Amino acid sequence: MVSNSEWFARRVAAVPRGVANATGLFAARAENAELWDVEDRRYVDFAGGIAVLNVGHRHPRVIAAVEQQLARYTHTAFQIVPYDSYITLAERLNELAPFTGATKTILFTTGAEAVENAVKIARGATGRSGVIAFTGGFHGRTIMTSALTGKVAPYKMQFGPMPGGVHHIPFPTLSNDVSVEDSLKALHFLFAADVPPEGVAAIIIEPIQGEGGFHVAPPALLRALREICDRHGILLIADEVQTGFARTGRMFGIEHSGVEPDLLTVAKSLAGGFPLSGVIGRADIMDKIEPGGLGGTYAGSPVACAAAIAVLDVIAEEGLIARAESLGDRIRARLDDFAKSNDLLPIADIRGLGAMIGFDVLDPATMRPDGGLAKQTCQRALEAGLILLNCGVQGEAIRILVPLTASDAIVDEGLELIRVALTRA
Ligand code: PMP
Repeated sequence: MVSNSEWFARRVAAVPRGVANATGLFAARAENAELWDVEDRRYVDFAGGIAVLNVGHRHPRVIAAVEQQLARYTHTAFQIVPYDSYITLAERLNELAPFTGATKTILFTTGAEAVENAVKIARGATGRSGVIAFTGGFHGRTIMTSALTGKVAPYKMQFGPMPGGVHHIPFPTLSNDVSVEDSLKALHFLFAADVPPEGVAAIIIEPIQGEGGFHVAPPALLRALREICDRHGILLIADEVQTGFARTGRMFGIEHSGVEPDLLTVAKSLAGGFPLSGVIGRADIMDKIEPGGLGGTYAGSPVACAAAIAVLDVIAEEGLIARAESLGDRIRARLDDFAKSNDLLPIADIRGLGAMIGFDVLDPATMRPDGGLAKQTCQRALEAGLILLNCGVQGEAIRILVPLTASDAIVDEGLELIRVALTRA
């Protein structure tokens, strides 16, 4: 048996440092919310491949759908010979997404590619170039999506100049001491100082910031943005790459606010572990782009489309939207207990929607969020047998992304390992 550390030494020699690893484990196999490494040690998985596994590792329905597709064909290029699963999936997404009028969907491969294409569609449809994003937001690692991402290190600092036309305003959070009014004031200053509203194609926002710390976008902010977009002919893009597919207790996170976006990006849990992303949007906007302006060789892979249709069936049949709510209640109740305990590192600002829950780990001396202690908590969780991720601009928050298909027993086991990891030395 080759050990994790032997593989890691080979990884260091063969793969550049630029792609970081949250753990030193090498995967051997995984089922639902459990993963075994190459040393046959079992872990509870609260990371879900970074929000990709809302239906768990290797859901039997997903595997069966993929196996059936593998027996038919694996690739034709939708642009050359189209296939039924792309159409069926687009129809299903058009039906599920929170748009009242005619809706269309185009498929891609990664989250960043979906965001890139949402920007292309917004620019093409409006004839404008400006795009406004939020501090702390994360939209991907391509050059345009790095520009949209509201965090310099490590996402932009070595890669400039960034593409033009991108502007940021502060995202309202308690910890930043930024209110909804502050954000909107910054937007008005931006319109006066940097770019007129008539030069702005789109405002892009995550309904809950994912990498940025699981901060919920206040409904009042989303409503105000909708109103400003309507007034000035700007398009509102909801980046649902991390919030989508039942995680928040709705199919899409923006549904909590009642606000209807113009374009919505999806990826991650869409296809249960297969690379697939998409832009869903108002048909009149989506059809503004001339044939050939959008697409990609692998965009909308038939294998991934088959997986995604199965994922949507699983979400419906297993009641995962309601499950996200009950799972969220269960997780919150336990975290509330941790927050009251004197034996644990202090935690605060338990937040999120449904089963998309995060909290800050505080330095007991200053009672301020501390990235080093959050990272240490993830490390100790791993030693105890739990794969756990942090997030936040300073890495100060712990996020829980357990599969929605996990049993109560597994979720409780994972929560207990968080308690162990938070125990003061
Ligand atoms: N948008 C959001 C909200 C994300 O969370 C991510 C990935 N963390 C992306 C876009 C980029 O997705 P990908 O890594 O698949 O390119």
